[in-house]
Amino acid sequence: MTQTPINRREALKKIYRAIVAAGAATFLSYRDLLAAVSQTPDQRPNVIWLHGTSCTGCSCSFLDIDYVPVVDILTKFTNMAFHPDISLATGSQVTNILERLEASSQGYIFVLEGGIPVSMPHACVMGERPITEWVELLASGATACIAAGTCAALGGIPKMHGTLTGSMTLDEFLTHKGIEKPLVSLPGCPMKPEHFVYTLLHQVKTGRLPELDESKRPLHFFSYTNHDRCILYADFQEKRFARRIGEPGCLLKLGCQGPVTKTDCMINGHNSNTNTCIRAGHPCIGCASEQFPRQILLHAYDEKRVIKKDF
Ligand code: SF4
Ligand code: SF4
Repeated sequence: MTQTPINRREALKKIYRAIVAAGAATFLSYRDLLAAVSQTPDQRPNVIWLHGTSCTGCSCSFLDIDYVPVVDILTKFTNMAFHPDISLATGSQVTNILERLEASSQGYIFVLEGGIPVSMPHACVMGERPITEWVELLASGATACIAAGTCAALGGIPKMHGTLTGSMTLDEFLTHKGIEKPLVSLPGCPMKPEHFVYTLLHQVKTGRLPELDESKRPLHFFSYTNHDRCILYADFQEKRFARRIGEPGCLLKLGCQGPVTKTDCMINGHNSNTNTCIRAGHPCIGCASEQFPRQILLHAYDEKRVIKKDF
């Protein structure tokens, strides 16, 4: 299928629509976009993105979304010095870029996707140096750090019970190494592109991260649980519970983690807000929560499952 080419004005409007969709229009105007476009790459803030122990799902989700022209946004507002999935540089070209930038006074925003395997550093190596060394080096020189996705933000699958890698979140690792840097955590398996766009643009425009909660998550996205805003909340209140997938009713007794999962899925679903778990009739598995992944039995109706008071 051939695509109709769009002119510059339409392209800019499309980018600005994506900025609005991410919620960033509250602090970033169309005029700011025009100003960003007129800058040369060396006038824009640098971004370095690395993968720790991860499945690359956050990057895939981030880069594949259709209504947010993510690469356009990144390249209009920042200089993407390195991203493992979109940069053309390989081998020593990459390590040279990273070392040169770290040694310069230019500054950069450091993004980490994935866990940091401190007990098994060689589980994740880049240019013959374990990721632990790269993260220590690059976080030390960063203006701000972004933990992208649940693995980097809260632990996720690399840190689940029984794994041997001793995986740490970026926050835990920085504390462990005594590195003090502004840090934001964006949990979600995968991370939502809108969360990243909002956070990155906030840092670029204002020079600081958005307002955060005690777990360093932006309040803008992580103030409410899925349960608080659930489309099935009336069923929950009326104690109408589904006994199996496909039945009408609240999904709590099928293992729904909505009551303990703070994120914005009920108002901003995945894939350009196409859908999200509960709207599709599946219990929330808490992918953006501290407890993910839980050793729970999903889908088996549990008559005794009760809501604790502190939800
Ligand atoms: S338990 Fe889950 S399905 Fe039921 S109201 Fe809460 S979030 Fe919605
Ligand atoms: S509904 Fe729950 S499991 Fe599904 S994407 Fe949102 S936080 Fe993750």
